Amino acid sequence: MNSIYLDHAATTYTKQEVLKEMLPYFYQKYGNASSIYTIGQESKKAVEHSREQVAKALGALPEEIYFTSGGSESDNLFIAGFARANKRKGRHIITSKIEHMAVLKTCLSLEKEGFDITYLNVDKYGMINLEELKRAIRNDTILISVMYANNEIGTIEPIEEIAKIAKEHHIVFHTDAVQAIGNIAIDVKKQNIDALSLSGHKFYGPKGVGALYVRKGINFEPIIHGGHQENNKRAGTENVPGIVGLGKAIELSTENVDRYYQKLQKLRDVYIQKVFEKIPDVKLNGHPTIRLPGNANISFSGIEGETLLLLLSANGIYTSSGSACNSGSSNPSHVLMATGLSPELARSSLRVTFGEENKMEEVEETVEKLETFVKKLRGAEK
Ligand SMILES: *Cc1c(COP(=O)(O)O)cnc(C)c1O
Repeated sequence: MNSIYLDHAATTYTKQEVLKEMLPYFYQKYGNASSIYTIGQESKKAVEHSREQVAKALGALPEEIYFTSGGSESDNLFIAGFARANKRKGRHIITSKIEHMAVLKTCLSLEKEGFDITYLNVDKYGMINLEELKRAIRNDTILISVMYANNEIGTIEPIEEIAKIAKEHHIVFHTDAVQAIGNIAIDVKKQNIDALSLSGHKFYGPKGVGALYVRKGINFEPIIHGGHQENNKRAGTENVPGIVGLGKAIELSTENVDRYYQKLQKLRDVYIQKVFEKIPDVKLNGHPTIRLPGNANISFSGIEGETLLLLLSANGIYTSSGSACNSGSSNPSHVLMATGLSPELARSSLRVTFGEENKMEEVEETVEKLETFVKKLRGAEK
């Protein structure tokens, strides 16, 4: 059976060109980047080349890039590391209710350390309110962390406006851009972003490797203690093949970002249009236009998204209901709940996220199957 993969927000495959660059660093060039002999220095050079690639993709300086094990670690490292290093200046942090768990749970753990966190509301489209943000700012606010684009509903937050407000108040601004990289062109200097998290496996790079950008001059403590790697901010022998892959993947993704955006947007728009045409009682979640090009999150009222997902998956179509971290639990998504959906409507949502290899025929086949399954499931209820 041919499968149709529509879950690119969960992860992507690693591109051939990326894998090809990585392979030598597993076997021939396996040296430790901290060693002074040739194969060690080759690894070191490869890591530094990747740092330049990541920096260039973001409009940052190489010394502002720290390699980590992924998006989750980058979020933890910056939010916890910055908070602990700057607690004399204040103990108040502002974030949003729709962040990824890597941000939300880090904030919860900081509450236990005596930090005070404000979780901003979002409107029905999943957008934060800039006036509410301004009102939340206090004398002891040290950090604002709001995601660039949401992984479940695709809504793109007003990053430049948030950054401007943060700058005016001399507050550091971090953004989880894990879903944005490769989909949207980012320039941290032009956009006044002080810190940013990204992850390789969301843009056709390998899993288990990510990066954190932190503007020069901003202090943060490490969370992993040990050797001197990553300028003393992240101990542990470098994942050289992973880092090499991340560099290549971000280079390819940012080079082709406009073409990729157009391609995904077309697939997504046709998908949404056809679902609305063929299936009654559906609701698009997230912002109608200010959203990631490949994301379509739709509630099919009266149906469990999980059931729909299983039926589709038994037919070789891979989608998601809620975020991957929520699968296995029947709790409605915190993101959809924050947008004001009832628990029932939140549980009836199905997320499809398109990618590089998807074709228009796959969109058509998916909608056909959906139409059949939704009809069947709704009929069974009566
Ligand atoms: C996937 C994701 C993460 C986690 O990244 P990992 O590399 O899987 O740890 C964090 N934030 C967002 C928005 C994500 O989509």
